[in-house]
Amino acid sequence: MRFYQLPFFLPFLYPNRLWNGLVSERKISLTFDDGPVPGITDWVVEELAKRHLSATFFMVGDNVRKHPALAQTVVAAGHQLGNHTYHHLSGWKTATQTYLDDVASCDAILGDTVGEKSRFFRPPYGWMSPGQAKGVAAAKKIVMWSLLSYDFDSGLSSENLIRRTTARTAPGTIIVFHDQQKTKDQLKKVLPHYLDFLVGEGYTTQLLEG
Ligand SMILES: [Zn+2]
Repeated sequence: MRFYQLPFFLPFLYPNRLWNGLVSERKISLTFDDGPVPGITDWVVEELAKRHLSATFFMVGDNVRKHPALAQTVVAAGHQLGNHTYHHLSGWKTATQTYLDDVASCDAILGDTVGEKSRFFRPPYGWMSPGQAKGVAAAKKIVMWSLLSYDFDSGLSSENLIRRTTARTAPGTIIVFHDQQKTKDQLKKVLPHYLDFLVGEGYTTQLLEG
């Protein structure tokens, strides 16, 4: 086999995930839930741009309706959008059809605003019923996480969060932050340090696949 043939054969023989792992081992996925929110989401986009990093933003449909230009800014900057329901519904408290209709409403506003719905979905509060999950998974990839930033826990110091997130980051990590009002103070203290850590440790970011 001639050497130049290798790149043609390997993608057929191995699943995408393994192929990407061979290309680069120090990649993680940054994810931000609950935006877009002015003064926070745009700040996140700037912090990412300074370091040439990319992320996936799981947006709430009603926030996209209120701030369409901000959703467009995120996409124009090369980031990826995910569906996080229209009303940030709790699966626990919501009937299955209502839940699925809300996911479809989020798709519709994303389609109207940025021209395409997302293939990716993350359930608010990290939970949905088996029936809801089955309905969503018929059309989307459900994305959970391997590392929570705990930016939503105001009882923890930002130093603690920085220590914890940097210590637990490894190739393939999917980390969750929140670009919303309740977490913005903690996010603005923690995120620049975490992104500097990624760059300093030679990590790059990858968008979701599937
Ligand atoms: Zn959420």
